[in-house]
Amino acid sequence: MARKAPAEDPAQDDPKVALPKHAAAGLPALLHTTTMATAQMGAARSVRTLLKLNQPDGFDCPGCAWPEPDHTHTAEFCENGAKAVAEEATLRRIGPEFFAEHSVADLADRSGYWLGQQGRLTTPMLLDQDATHYTPIGWDAALTLVADELKALDTPNAAAFYTSGRTSNEAAFAFQLFARQLGTNNLPDCSNMCHESSGSALTETIGIGKGSVSLKDLYQADLIIVAGQNPGTNHPRMLSALERAKRAGARIVSVNPLPEAGLERFRNPQNARGLVGAGTKLTDLFLQIRLGGDLALFRALNLLLLKAERKEPGTVLDHAFIAEHCHGFAEFAADAETTDWAAVLAATGLPEGQIRELAALALESKRIVVCWAMGLTQHKHAVPTIREVVNFLLLRGNIGRPGAGVCPVRGHSNVQGDRTMGIFERPGKPFLDALGKEFRFEPPREHGLDVVDTVRGMRDGKVRVFFAMGGNFVSATPDTAVTEAAMRRCRLTVHVSTKLNRSHVVTGARALILPTLGRTDRDRQSSGPQQVTVEDSMGMVHASRGALRPPADDLLSETAIVCGLARRTLGPGNTVPWEDFTADYGNLRDRIARVVPGFEDFNDRIKQPGGFALPHGPRDTRAFPTATGKANFTVNPLTAPEVPAGRLLLQTLRSHDQYNTTIYGLDDRYRGITDGRRVVLLHPDDAAEHGLAEGDHTDLVSEWTDGSTRRAPHFRVVHYPTTRGCAAAYYPETNVLVPLDSTADTSNTPTSKSVVIRFAEDSGAEAVGP
Ligand code: SF4
Repeated sequence: MARKAPAEDPAQDDPKVALPKHAAAGLPALLHTTTMATAQMGAARSVRTLLKLNQPDGFDCPGCAWPEPDHTHTAEFCENGAKAVAEEATLRRIGPEFFAEHSVADLADRSGYWLGQQGRLTTPMLLDQDATHYTPIGWDAALTLVADELKALDTPNAAAFYTSGRTSNEAAFAFQLFARQLGTNNLPDCSNMCHESSGSALTETIGIGKGSVSLKDLYQADLIIVAGQNPGTNHPRMLSALERAKRAGARIVSVNPLPEAGLERFRNPQNARGLVGAGTKLTDLFLQIRLGGDLALFRALNLLLLKAERKEPGTVLDHAFIAEHCHGFAEFAADAETTDWAAVLAATGLPEGQIRELAALALESKRIVVCWAMGLTQHKHAVPTIREVVNFLLLRGNIGRPGAGVCPVRGHSNVQGDRTMGIFERPGKPFLDALGKEFRFEPPREHGLDVVDTVRGMRDGKVRVFFAMGGNFVSATPDTAVTEAAMRRCRLTVHVSTKLNRSHVVTGARALILPTLGRTDRDRQSSGPQQVTVEDSMGMVHASRGALRPPADDLLSETAIVCGLARRTLGPGNTVPWEDFTADYGNLRDRIARVVPGFEDFNDRIKQPGGFALPHGPRDTRAFPTATGKANFTVNPLTAPEVPAGRLLLQTLRSHDQYNTTIYGLDDRYRGITDGRRVVLLHPDDAAEHGLAEGDHTDLVSEWTDGSTRRAPHFRVVHYPTTRGCAAAYYPETNVLVPLDSTADTSNTPTSKSVVIRFAEDSGAEAVGP
């Protein structure tokens, strides 16, 4: 029975604004967790469910990819993990009656927040050509419809298979195998929009596109630099690890345009000191950098390290490591000497003394970890920036030894695992060879489409079928109008989802919603109860078992959907035992073990509580599988975003009540904003310079080097202590400002952290879309 909408759809443009907080978590987080969980799940179900979250015999958090510690507490989750679980384990349901009541046009007028609040999807739904409403369709008919559309394509490359980071290893492996059996490498994923720049830079420099540290390394570090990252909101349990490191003597340096509460002070709700006391001060040194200034900062640090070595030869650099394990040092060092201090200071906006202070900390520290997230990856020069971070670590041998290394902190819970399973539009030859050998077929070798190229393909009529395994593609991608128009050009769009979102109401000529099991749900197949596996941000693989009764008895798992579709599309005689895979995911894991290095004895090793670590050459043995066979120093010319006079640089970011594109609520508690999202955070002096007062409304206009502009209407001005010249506003509301063609060099990641803007007269609330 469909429920009436439990929440209204507020305008979101007139929030209440208070001063930002200077500490994260503590009692308020506990209260919010309780309120949010009981509103969605009721008290008893909340307790039962949350006590299984991130436990060895429970299920993995569907939130971020932060790893679990070895010895878990009874309550091993954060406020945002609890919100993610509450959204999934909600008692709210939407079935055929809901879709009969709401036309697609009606739903397309609602906000993403409202759509997400309606509840779990229970029934496969079809939007037929020229229909106004979704109507129910049986599972067999739905999968046959998709199979028929795929078989009717002129080429398999006219289909794209998108994966969001929630998808389990088992489902992801089956999904990529299906796409490749069909004949395409069109496997875009959410990683294309977040850490692709990290993957590109790390693969080139250390030979593997993953971080090189474990939690233990963080605990052993002398210095942890957190650059372009807001763990308090996006990876909250990282704060516990930072607290532990701090108590063991580490110094923490934050590099960010905004001061963030979580990095200032952490009130750990696991102990009395955090719950009712002052908590732990985390950041020792805060560098309030300009957006996009990180490359300049790390260049300057590298120059200072080289100079210190010249002054006291043999005391600064790790010469033995550089000689034995690195390539390209001389060229790098010669270029670093040309670093122009005036350019560094202009790009970073930092006082020279602060940069020298950080260099002094680095010189005092034997073991250094650098953590980063979207603040580094979503700039045009993101890849060289991360390469320069690697240079910084290589100089003193800070890769491949305890307490040191690179730590790109991943967003969605299995985004790293999906890539390990082969969700990649540019797979390597060894992976394709192994896949082809195991399943006796010739996989396609031509590179496929990433996210940006998929949108281009749909826009140009080359991609006709779009199939999404989770996620909210149209809200995650830039250039909203272009993306939505592209989606509407498809013959068929299909979304495998747990909840309603905007991608279900911006459709191709026909559209399907295929509801699926979530992490919290019991997954029973013909051989019995199933478990799935995920890989966290630090390369640990572990099992996840949901325990709740699914929202509908005939709901299919992601794996069952993929295998059912593959059988119908590829027909009899296909070399893959799809039915066996669905019956028992252990059969899938046996095959993964034979194809993907590091997964030997997969089924046995996931029985270990906490799972197992994947091999990582640079971390484990200082083996660097790069083109040179060594860790590569690189030359990265100093570049930074250019901002014309009278303009500001805008970054898009998340609120505290948001995880990626999912909006759990309308508050950003740590930043002092409640009951609204259409805000632009501005330094008071910048606001004054542009004639804007706190509380005014303005349109944001982005300007691009090709002369094009884009406009986002009606944002409330909020005075905020951000770096001068650098503004911030939430996505997906500001995705419209970023053109499809503005992407990072090499990685093709949209440049959502360096948007040149000006202000324009407020178009008013009526100009705001859904
Ligand atoms: S830190 Fe991330 S993985 Fe852990 S509970 Fe919070 S959202 Fe979930």
